[in-house]
Amino acid sequence: MPAFDDDRAEMLARAADAGVRAILAITGLSMTEIGVIALKIFATTGVHPHEAKDAGDLTTVEQQSKDARVLAIGEIGLDYHYDHSPRPVQADVFIKQMEIARAARKPIVIHTREAWPDTLSLLKENWAATGLGGVMHCFSGDLATAHECIDMGFLISIAGPVTFPKSQELRDVASKLPADRLLIETDSPYLAPVPHRGKRNEPAFVAEVCKRLAEVRGVAPEEIAARTTENFSRLFAVKI
Ligand SMILES: [Zn+2]
Repeated sequence: MPAFDDDRAEMLARAADAGVRAILAITGLSMTEIGVIALKIFATTGVHPHEAKDAGDLTTVEQQSKDARVLAIGEIGLDYHYDHSPRPVQADVFIKQMEIARAARKPIVIHTREAWPDTLSLLKENWAATGLGGVMHCFSGDLATAHECIDMGFLISIAGPVTFPKSQELRDVASKLPADRLLIETDSPYLAPVPHRGKRNEPAFVAEVCKRLAEVRGVAPEEIAARTTENFSRLFAVKI
């Protein structure tokens, strides 16, 4: 993202120093060449619900979905908080991208905001049976919702909000999720975790998400790191 135009190489070096071994860059529609780095970087491709109204015929997503570096289709889904695109258009573009993902045999990464009932029913109708699974990105639902997603093959991805003082509900949910269904993420450059809150977020800060999640679950951060790495490798069938 442009937020890293001035220090992309340094940002990636900091991530490697923080123990990050692989990054899935969400909606990496334009991949910048950054030279040799000590990190594996993968991408997703997809049209975010905000931009659904400008999605066109989705040719780019379809083409990029075949690229071996593209591990998933996403972020796709529904956002009824901002309603930047009309809801029926969001649903249409969401469904079409699930079709592209199914054809490419790749998982999906879901963005959903204030739209759980429609998101879950569209996933049930159009995705669950594929068995390809996916990621519930920046999860913010309740435990019952998490289990509905898990039953459809999804991993639950925990981001910076788990460190926010007011997010006790999310911590409660995160403490009860099965260890083999967890992922961690940053949502960089947004949602910087404590103690970097309010600053530009970057991949190195995922270590803070890992630490807080470990605390909440009463395990060592190394345990969370190992399990989330394992879960990532399993879902996307890649070695890290
Ligand atoms: Zn999102």
